[in-house]
Amino acid sequence: MNKKILIVGGVAGGASAAARLRRLSEEDEIIMFEKGPHVSFSNCALPYHLSGIIDEADKLVLMSPEKFMVQYKIEARVNNEVLSINKEEKYVNIRNLLTGETYKETYDKLVLSPGAKPIVPNIPGIEEVNIFTIRNVVDIDKLNKYVKSLETQHIAVIGGGFIGVEAAENLRDAGYNVSLIEATDQILRPFDYDMVQIFHKEIYDKGINLVVGDKVEKFEKDAVILASGKKINAKVVVMAIGVSPETTLAKDADLEIGETGAIKVDQNYRTNDVDIYAVGDAIEVYNSLTHSMTKLSLAGPAQKQARSVADHINGKKSLNKGYIGSSAIKVFDYNGASTGLNEALINVLNMKIKYDVVRVILTDKVGIMPTSAPMHFKLLYEVPTGKILGAQAIGKGDVTKRIDVIATAIKFGGTIEDLKDLELCYAPPFSTAKDVVNYAGYVGSNLLNGDFKQVNVDLVRGLVEHNAYIIDVRERGEYASGHIKNAVNIPLSEIRDRINEIPKDKPIYLHCRTGQRSYNATLALQNLGFNNVYNITGSFLALSFYEYFNDKAQNREPIVTEYNFR
Ligand code: FAD
Repeated sequence: MNKKILIVGGVAGGASAAARLRRLSEEDEIIMFEKGPHVSFSNCALPYHLSGIIDEADKLVLMSPEKFMVQYKIEARVNNEVLSINKEEKYVNIRNLLTGETYKETYDKLVLSPGAKPIVPNIPGIEEVNIFTIRNVVDIDKLNKYVKSLETQHIAVIGGGFIGVEAAENLRDAGYNVSLIEATDQILRPFDYDMVQIFHKEIYDKGINLVVGDKVEKFEKDAVILASGKKINAKVVVMAIGVSPETTLAKDADLEIGETGAIKVDQNYRTNDVDIYAVGDAIEVYNSLTHSMTKLSLAGPAQKQARSVADHINGKKSLNKGYIGSSAIKVFDYNGASTGLNEALINVLNMKIKYDVVRVILTDKVGIMPTSAPMHFKLLYEVPTGKILGAQAIGKGDVTKRIDVIATAIKFGGTIEDLKDLELCYAPPFSTAKDVVNYAGYVGSNLLNGDFKQVNVDLVRGLVEHNAYIIDVRERGEYASGHIKNAVNIPLSEIRDRINEIPKDKPIYLHCRTGQRSYNATLALQNLGFNNVYNITGSFLALSFYEYFNDKAQNREPIVTEYNFR
């Protein structure tokens, strides 16, 4: 029997559900309501209109209602807002936003994919500034036209999440004086504090006024005033502090709301009404690593959930394995990707989990290839099982390939032993014969075996301040061009001959440029009878990135004579 299926929301989840529903049935009547003027646009590409990478706003729109009708026999009603749901009598009330007319549409099945709306807190003085948010093509077009019409060049972006960072980057690329303001001590939460310093540096170096750890207190005429008292000039304020799920329709219809404040659904994305499904940013999902419910505002999950819903409506089963959260971002010349758990999340959630960390830096391609660049890679694994919990990669090359491999391994319950064994594609323009993913497996299994001990770069400042014994095992020329202030230079090539210079009665901390040579030195010292030896993970390169932004932003005394970023 043919069904009448209504869909609320015509973008990531809504449009995906509609198309899949049509593929599964030619007979069903499918109507998709979208309150905005466009369906099926690329939310994710919106910020790139600000820099002109996407030169015309119209190019952000991927499908028209006409195409939906011609290609899929789907009625896409734009400028039509669903106002309420009557679940007892199975109809929705709709307002045509162009004519003001309201009307009813009955359904057999209803799919909600209304997304999430930008949070705009009522900060004192908010009426004094021009506030913009970025959610759809209309928003970005409006913002772009407004900034282009300005005489002043000052723009403040508030919030260092993905949308804030992408907006700031694209506005900076367009030539504006941009301030990026983040209340907590770091931007981009999927990355740990040690890793994210690479992005802090990149944003700072590209001329954005990056302010972290300072909250917006109030607005004044064309200015943002921070809790520290700092005044940031801004003719335009882009508010990007986060999104909240669109739950009004669901709440008004007495559909169950979950513990996170998003719509509660079962494993088939069905609400507590058997004929109403919900997907995308509006729902909460099960995180299979934290074993808790979470909100996940990502396009991939929204589209996959939509597919599952269409399948379920048509009697097909799909297994809901939960989510681990995988994401990627470009920050000027750097790419970043992350998946699964990070240290900050484990701490915030107070997870009772024993884990250790691999932190390696390897070239992303064979070193002699002209575009070869260091890739910073961090992997978390459970102790003692070796089960992979999460990973982050930042570099100028293909970070997503590496993190996709880890995301796949996590989904299949992989361990660090499995990473050693992975046969990954290799040719010099793409990667190295033993990829950073394989290396992470080697290092992880060495750590798990207790072969050596390590300290992370975030502890080095404390070591320097406490006058710890740090050996720089790089060659003399490398040391001369920049080193940790009180480190002793004993190159790997000389270490065995100079063994008597090294004290046996205190901990020894070793580093080189990336941690590989110092790992060899660590093992050599251990084999020569030293038992309190630590390799500094990521070594001088990671340390330079870790220290740089805070040194500059806080006008802090550096612990290195010169940084090294190559
Ligand atoms: P949406 O795609 O937002 O669609 C919801 C639609 O429902 C909206 O158009 C809304 O107008 C409509 N609607 C709401 N209520 C009603 C109603 N009552 N009646 C009719 N229509 C209604 N994710 C990534 O994975 N990678 C990225 O790089 C990325 N970048 C992003 C950049 C930006 C600027 C933004 C805004 C989002 C980005 N996202 C990204 C997130 C991703 O776009 C969302 O997770 C995804 O679009 C969610 O799909 P959805 O269907 O739940 O909501």
